Amino acid sequence: MPLQSPFQIDIPATDLLSYLFPSSIPASDTPIWIDADDTSNSLSPSQLLSWVKRFAAGLQGLGLKRQDVVMMYSHNHIFVPVAYLGVSGAGCVFSGCNPAYGVDETVYQVQNTECKAILVEPSLLPTLLTAAEKANFPKDRIFLFSDKEVQTTDSIKDWRSILPSASKADSWKWEPMNAEESRTTVAALNYSSGTTGLPKGVMISHQNIIANVEQSIYMRDLEQPYHPSSRPQERWLGFLPLYHAYGQLWSIVAACRTLSPCYFMRSFNYTKFLSNIQNHRITHIQTAPPVLVMLAKRPETPGYDLSSLQNILCGAAPLSKELQNQVSDRFNLKVVQTWGMTEVTCSCLHVPGGLDDRSGSVGYIDPNASIRLLHESGHEAGPGERGEIHVKGPNVCMGYWRNEKATKETFDEEGWLKTGDVAIRDKKGRFWIVDRMKELIKVKGFQVAPAELEAVLLEHEGVADAAVVGLMLDHEELPRAYVALKPEHKSTHSEWDIERWMADRVAKHKQLSGGVVFIDEVPKSPSGKIQRKVLKEWAKRDASGG
Ligand code: AMP
Repeated sequence: MPLQSPFQIDIPATDLLSYLFPSSIPASDTPIWIDADDTSNSLSPSQLLSWVKRFAAGLQGLGLKRQDVVMMYSHNHIFVPVAYLGVSGAGCVFSGCNPAYGVDETVYQVQNTECKAILVEPSLLPTLLTAAEKANFPKDRIFLFSDKEVQTTDSIKDWRSILPSASKADSWKWEPMNAEESRTTVAALNYSSGTTGLPKGVMISHQNIIANVEQSIYMRDLEQPYHPSSRPQERWLGFLPLYHAYGQLWSIVAACRTLSPCYFMRSFNYTKFLSNIQNHRITHIQTAPPVLVMLAKRPETPGYDLSSLQNILCGAAPLSKELQNQVSDRFNLKVVQTWGMTEVTCSCLHVPGGLDDRSGSVGYIDPNASIRLLHESGHEAGPGERGEIHVKGPNVCMGYWRNEKATKETFDEEGWLKTGDVAIRDKKGRFWIVDRMKELIKVKGFQVAPAELEAVLLEHEGVADAAVVGLMLDHEELPRAYVALKPEHKSTHSEWDIERWMADRVAKHKQLSGGVVFIDEVPKSPSGKIQRKVLKEWAKRDASGG
């Protein structure tokens, strides 16, 4: 029998704007999105709503239609929530592109989304213009996107140029959605490689986001000694990238819903992270294991007063209970684990915020969701048995954007989402992640799709075949390539040449920091599939020095 969450909650069945800005309650004037470097640069929900209306009206004025995609290529700043909610408020689809991406990675997302407009941070304009030219994307649909008004060039306008005046936009109204529309209208396209292949656009509906925010907040407040209304005294640090589901869920939607001031960092920098916690008396952070490794090990840490920190929510990659407890003890705070993936909007298992769980568990099933663990022999795994996590729930995505085949492969006939993660559970319904059977590698919490790196490697003139797997070193997963060179190139290329060649072609987190190893032949099954299990064993052996 699948395991159902014991908790059932009411999830508003509507669109994001109606959820965040119900007509019965005036929007708050408390600053919620605050620039961590300059706190005078901030937005309250009522200011945000005014900008959102203008931007949504502006997009419609440009002629964008329902479910057209708008891509954002930018680091974090306080106007990203305006873009995210303005785009979805106009009935369009928001898709964030990693600002670390180079030209080819950006071309891929421009073409795959078939976006109709692009918002670009001015410092990224040169890369974007090259990508746009390669993708044949029209320049008059590219808009500079910054939290400050910027000098525009002849051909590239500022995003503010499409906005009607605040007074004109005040009469602009979004169309409230009913339950069916909320379930079937895409609000965001977040990229994930899923269990196999290249990155794909995950269709996240309005209902998915609302459900996952409600589920996450419920689990957070469960067993807390305080009432949720005391939350405004919390202060969050918004350093998770806002092109990713994890940042969007907490730093945009949950911050607005719970009125939790969130100090935005443009991007992650460890010493700035420490000084921001100290200076803004941050109480809560949402993060991934590499940040806990830094907290535990980096020599700068003791130089800062981190006593305001009460709670760290940690997900996106495996976290050992040793590291979890080390950080928890050292800073006298709770480290609460969560598990999820882009395809479940953000998360689906949480340790309740009030529990001091020191077991390395990723917690219990979120309200209104169900999980079954499928043992490799095909039966449902019982307590203590390993099984692949399959999920159903209001937070499970609608499928992959314009990719029926991948959608069909990812859901079974009964509608279960097959996650590719392996877990065990106990009798009480507590889960531990024990393995990952899909191709995905996670570097500092970011996705790296082996198929993408393999395709780039095959473009190298000397490479006959290649396979990429994750190598686990000191709590971090690193991409490692096993490469078979063409016979005539064996004496002309070194492992270092290949590593450097790749470094020029992919974003930093995708570089082959786990090294390149030359082999005679990539191990394959009789049907020609790369035998990743064998390669993972090799990587494990190499990591242990065996
Ligand atoms: P993403 O779609 O980028 O959020 O990545 C999702 C994947 O990250 C999952 O399928 C897992 O493989 C991994 N992951 C997320 N949370 C955890 C966790 N708490 N422990 C272990 N792996 C995790």
